[in-house]
Amino acid sequence: MPEGQIRKAISGFYYVEQDGQLIQCKSRGVFRNRGIHPLVGDFVTYVPDGDNDALITVVHERRNELVRPPISNIDQALLVFSMVEPAFSPHLLDRFLVVVESFGVKPVICLTKKDLACAEELEKVAEAAAYYKKIGYDVIETFIDDESLSDILQPYLKGKTTVLAGQSGVGKSTLLNTVLPMLALKTGEISEALGRGKHTTRHVELLEIAGGLVADTPGFSSLDFDHIDKEQLSYYFVDMDELSAMCKFRGCLHMKEPKCAVKEQVEAGEMPRHRYENYLQFMQEILDRKPRYDKHD
Ligand code: ZN
Repeated sequence: MPEGQIRKAISGFYYVEQDGQLIQCKSRGVFRNRGIHPLVGDFVTYVPDGDNDALITVVHERRNELVRPPISNIDQALLVFSMVEPAFSPHLLDRFLVVVESFGVKPVICLTKKDLACAEELEKVAEAAAYYKKIGYDVIETFIDDESLSDILQPYLKGKTTVLAGQSGVGKSTLLNTVLPMLALKTGEISEALGRGKHTTRHVELLEIAGGLVADTPGFSSLDFDHIDKEQLSYYFVDMDELSAMCKFRGCLHMKEPKCAVKEQVEAGEMPRHRYENYLQFMQEILDRKPRYDKHD
């Protein structure tokens, strides 16, 4: 039976890509009974049904999934942060990194507007960028109106499924226009083809860009830690996760515990203090969270 990937979903129809063609499918009622909702990004098996819509019969296991926007099997999130206007915020970047890591998605950091930053701002950003590189993240630096942007991003997008995300104040269109003019062009063409305003088409779509797939809607619109327990938080600070094995106490939360390897690194100047302080602040948000009750009660 044919298999393919759902590339877009509109009004109960799923468009499954197979060999360069989009097949219009409906989903089987039995999924809804079992609480399975096919998502854009899902790999599915479907059965053709003559002149009628094909029917999705199996949703294959997902590697990961986001809730807002609803999309699955994402390889990476391109985190777009400007160096200036608005000023670079390591706090917000750390928040994004934790949330992205918690969904099992690889973050790639893209710092924009390099040409607008003064020497002092550049130095501050360079210091932060050096640390993020040291702990294993890819950091891309771009200029405003960079003509070679597509070339710079191509190697990162090729063969991957990417969701864009960015600091608040960087709206969807700004994000698309500045980072991926090609994507903005494609989404523009689609809005025009549908003959509707931008805001009436609430759907998610994976578009083929630079040899990869890019979601046409920014991801990670919610930056809360509701799904993260206090013991898990340091897993998503990749630098702390590595150190945890050297803490004296198993399950060390790197707060008040003695002989904590994380605190020693901070004291030694190996880990930026602001990053540790971000950890403590996020931890406080988790500790302050109201207890959750089971929705089924
Ligand atoms: Zn510790």
